[in-house]
Amino acid sequence: MRLILLGPPGSGKGTQAQRLVQRYGILQLSTGEMLRAAVAAQTPVGVQAQDIMASGGLVPDEIVIGIISDRLDQPDAAKGFILDGFPRTVPQAEALDELLKKKRMRLDAVIELRVNESALLQRVETRAAETRARGEQVRPDDTQEVLKKRLASYRELTEPLVHYYSERRKLLTVDGMMTIEHVTREIDRILSAIRAAEAKAAKKMAAARRAGNGAGKGIVARKAGKAARKSAVKKAKPAGKSTQRARKAGKRPSGVTKKAARKVIASSRTRMAGRPKKAAKKLTKRRAKA
Ligand code: AMP
Repeated sequence: MRLILLGPPGSGKGTQAQRLVQRYGILQLSTGEMLRAAVAAQTPVGVQAQDIMASGGLVPDEIVIGIISDRLDQPDAAKGFILDGFPRTVPQAEALDELLKKKRMRLDAVIELRVNESALLQRVETRAAETRARGEQVRPDDTQEVLKKRLASYRELTEPLVHYYSERRKLLTVDGMMTIEHVTREIDRILSAIRAAEAKAAKKMAAARRAGNGAGKGIVARKAGKAARKSAVKKAKPAGKSTQRARKAGKRPSGVTKKAARKVIASSRTRMAGRPKKAAKKLTKRRAKA
């Protein structure tokens, strides 16, 4: 499983990533953690990053891309990973695409934790108070003033990634304002759907390979796998509130045109032809309910 957790500071990426590590036994790759370790060890990268991090700015792309590239080369990354805090800019996302392509790795999904900003300031204050209570040192960038700067840089440089990954059909958004437990459960649901579709894709690919012969069989198998994976992200998507309301009221969800709805009904009628009357009736009832 290869995932990206996307969300502003304080959205709960780190907490959820740790839970995923325990559940799926994959690596958490947090560029923030790696950079803090480099600062503590005063390596050349650490020395360069120290002041930028303390002021709430972003470390230059080439530094973080280099760190991630080296880390992905290590054998333990082969099992899968969760990227936490990377990518943070469009050039970083493009570089990641290239890296994964070169390493013949495929990204499964990008999970965006959406939260409202006013809650973040409170959350980061709580995090700092808890750290103090444990007798540990508070992060120099966990102050109200620096957080405001980090949020501004998220809005300007990182938020465009929502569009970037949504265009590539990788994005799944989770309401990060729910309790930690609820968010974990929602992520679990998404990942289970992706895993199930992966298994289906592998099965389809194997079947296409078995059935196909000649030069085209590899292409047919790859296409079958790709289509199943795309539908996996689609299926894992939580239905929007308006769609849920429309479904409850038995209405056509907004965004579904009359023409499209009619097409679905027409195609279901075509498929119905040839079925025994009783079976067709049952199917119509089931579809109407859905
Ligand atoms: P985080 O622990 O993810 O909140 O990151 C802490 C700080 O590390 C950020 O405010 C940045 O200064 C730096 N940082 C972490 N990841 C990146 C990244 N992908 N690109 C640039 N700077 C980063």
